[in-house]
Amino acid sequence: MVRNTPITRNASRITLVGPDLAHFVAGAPDQRVKLFVPRAGRPAPPIVRRGLTWREAWERIPEPDRPYQRTYTVRAHRTEPPEIDIDFALHAQGGPASRWARSACPGDTIDLLGPTGERNGGYSFAPPAGSPLLLAGDHAALPAIGSIVESLPHDAQGHVFVEVATSADRQHLTAPPGVRVNWLHPEPGDRAPTGNPLLEAVRDTDLPREGGYAWIAGEAGCVRALRRHLKDDRGMDRRSIASMGYWRVGHTEDTAHARTPDKQLTHS
Ligand SMILES: Cc1cc2nc3c(=O)[nH]c(=O)nc-3n(C[C@H](O)[C@H](O)[C@H](O)COP(=O)(O)OP(=O)(O)OC[C@H]3O[C@@H](n4cnc5c(N)ncnc54)[C@H](O)[C@@H]3O)c2cc1C
Repeated sequence: MVRNTPITRNASRITLVGPDLAHFVAGAPDQRVKLFVPRAGRPAPPIVRRGLTWREAWERIPEPDRPYQRTYTVRAHRTEPPEIDIDFALHAQGGPASRWARSACPGDTIDLLGPTGERNGGYSFAPPAGSPLLLAGDHAALPAIGSIVESLPHDAQGHVFVEVATSADRQHLTAPPGVRVNWLHPEPGDRAPTGNPLLEAVRDTDLPREGGYAWIAGEAGCVRALRRHLKDDRGMDRRSIASMGYWRVGHTEDTAHARTPDKQLTHS
């Protein structure tokens, strides 16, 4: 990696470089990739081995040296020179990926598995053209939401809800005039919310009965409740709701079974 740029107190942008990134192709603004986070103090063994899939090669690495697999979103991709930005939520529970991002320095290495073609299945945002949009997510979904919002056409219409811990965790997003970005966080002095602020905010929002498209991501239980609300209470067609549990309370990604693409390994 070349840069570790603080965005807010609880988020860092890691910029990755490497010759193989010249082959990277994103299919959509919420393109996901797999990162292989090295174990502290251990060498990073190669994930690519001739004749093996990456998973076979990864599983053959002795457990004490085996890097952690984690799923992240490409916040930005540039080609001259090839660079990828990944925004990490530096969450308080501090798993290996979040810890790595907190202390990563220029010159540190990490393996990245990402696609080399647009039709790669490693993304979810695919609204029919012109659909009114609902985007909702938490701090882990903010990189994808930022990337989606900034990719929208000028005439896009919709509502965006982002739940963050404090007002200082808001980020500047450049949205088209018809897309309203709403930040959800307790005010100074308030108690941390106990319910599902995303669900409550969406409940209070006028949504079109037909033709809308929703993209929701964040903690798995919150996302499930929100999806149920859109389907059962608001009558949205389930095919118009893209919902992803990005993390799960009490589970690491190893035990929460996130789905990721499986196409091409690049080193950065
Ligand atoms: C498709 C997809 C795209 C994603 N994109 C991004 C992204 O761009 N940026 C980003 O920051 N995250 C993103 N995530 C979420 C990220 O993969 C998880 O948060 C992951 O668990 C972090 O790994 P870790 O090693 O830090 O923690 P883990 O070892 O997986 O978990 C350790 C502990 O921390 C808790 N935990 C994990 N994540 C969070 C969290 N976000 N907030 C609070 N507690 C948490 C767990 O419940 C567990 O108790 C994405 C997930 C998916 C499935």
